[in-house]
Amino acid sequence: MGNPKAFLTVPRQEAGHRPVYERIKDFAEVEQTLSTHDRKLQASRCMDCGVPFCHWACPLGNKAPEWNDALYQGKWELAYRLLTATNPFPEFTGRICPALCEKACILNHFNDEPTTNREDECAIIEAAFREGYIKPAAYERNGHRVAVIGAGPAGLSAAQRLNSLGYEVTVFEKNANAGGLLRYGIPNFKLNKYLVSRRTQLMEAEGVKFEFNSEFSDYSDYSDFDAIVIATGTPTARDLNVPGRDLEGVHFALEILSQQNRLLTGEDISGEKRISAEGKKVLVIGGGDTGSDCIGTSHRQGATSVTQIEIMPKPPVGHNPDTPWPWWPVVLKTTTSHEEGCERRWCLTTNRFIDDGNGHVKGAEVEEVEWIAAKDGGRPQMRPTGKKEVIDCDLVLLAMGFLRPEHPQYPANVFIAGDAKSGASLVVRAIASGRQVADDVDKFLKENK
Ligand SMILES: Cc1cc2nc3c(=O)[nH]c(=O)nc-3n(C[C@H](O)[C@H](O)[C@H](O)COP(=O)(O)OP(=O)(O)OC[C@H]3O[C@@H](n4cnc5c(N)ncnc54)[C@H](O)[C@@H]3O)c2cc1C
Ligand code: SF4
Repeated sequence: MGNPKAFLTVPRQEAGHRPVYERIKDFAEVEQTLSTHDRKLQASRCMDCGVPFCHWACPLGNKAPEWNDALYQGKWELAYRLLTATNPFPEFTGRICPALCEKACILNHFNDEPTTNREDECAIIEAAFREGYIKPAAYERNGHRVAVIGAGPAGLSAAQRLNSLGYEVTVFEKNANAGGLLRYGIPNFKLNKYLVSRRTQLMEAEGVKFEFNSEFSDYSDYSDFDAIVIATGTPTARDLNVPGRDLEGVHFALEILSQQNRLLTGEDISGEKRISAEGKKVLVIGGGDTGSDCIGTSHRQGATSVTQIEIMPKPPVGHNPDTPWPWWPVVLKTTTSHEEGCERRWCLTTNRFIDDGNGHVKGAEVEEVEWIAAKDGGRPQMRPTGKKEVIDCDLVLLAMGFLRPEHPQYPANVFIAGDAKSGASLVVRAIASGRQVADDVDKFLKENK
């Protein structure tokens, strides 16, 4: 336990972000770090609350009270061991997890000042790399081979765990590099790609093999493996089939996000069509995290204005009685990208895109909608109001989510993990799913071989 009374005297302190005027000129991570002294003070705020709801809320079951106590006492290596007992990749969750645990923290209920678990987690794993606590482990092999398809967080998590259980693991990835959306979706200003390479190099040193530019199409191609884990994510973005969708300047969010991440690695994309927000009026359709990442990317590319529209109503600010503590609160979320400047609007549907006469988009006709609550408590019904307007734009980014993949009936030795199983979700859930599936594979092979 940390200091049982620290939560009464030490306020929550977040590391904060680089100033907007500085950060929008580059793609470096926006989040800053606290000093070791302040980080330990923050860890001390985690008290012995008896029923730690953070365990329950974290999909990995991370033991935040335990590693916060070790951190408070300056036992960094112990904190690292406790943290990685449940979380194989805290350097990712420590940066980009929405911290479900913090929303469920008793201190969040008490005075809206939960512990800083996510940042604490990041500090612990970075100290572990820096101090040399992390060394490639050598695992005894058990003679079985497993193919993992897809090198996103779910596939990497499954591969890491299976490798540690003694399986010979090969990860087959259609891209030229590992990470999935960690590398080709999430912008560098949230997650530096060096962190992904650092992790996969460690996994390689521990025996995991990677085969890149290798696209899965049929499980029977992997018949020399004892089991197969499919962790191919949600490859199909939700489209907007309205007139003008084919105009130039209308793109899926991941087109620009992935291109930008690849440009930053020095990749030559001159052979394909470069999408840039430079000098453009950008319209982002979709009010979620992907839309937010489009906003931050557009600013850094030099957009003249950014508007984000969402078909659903504006969520409540602060608290939402429909999602009381310790549940995840469905409330208005303002990200660092929103803080950088953006007009945000709700209850707008898009009717059509308007041609500038040369086949390029010059505007979007939108219409206000109303949401009518269903009497039986079911899904509310959307009703267009007839109030239409045109939003000027010369770049439209569609960020309306991803379709849930469908899978054929596979044989018993084929397992599905991550977004490929659940539909689009979170990195922490993908990691947890990969870990669970690895244990399922282990159980299956022990029972059937
Ligand atoms: C723009 C954006 C921002 C996000 N931001 C956050 C965030 O801040 N925090 C958060 O928690 N979550 C975030 N998410 C969600 C998170 O990235 C995903 O939930 C997570 O990456 C899912 O992991 P996964 O391994 O299941 O799938 P993915 O990360 O999609 O990985 C799937 C992998 O499979 C490969 N693959 C696909 N098909 C094949 C095939 N046929 N053969 C071989 N390989 C194949 C892909 O190339 C990819 O490498 C974000 C998502 C997006 C799109
Ligand atoms: S992974 Fe996310 S939910 Fe779990 S302890 Fe870390 S920040 Fe909290």
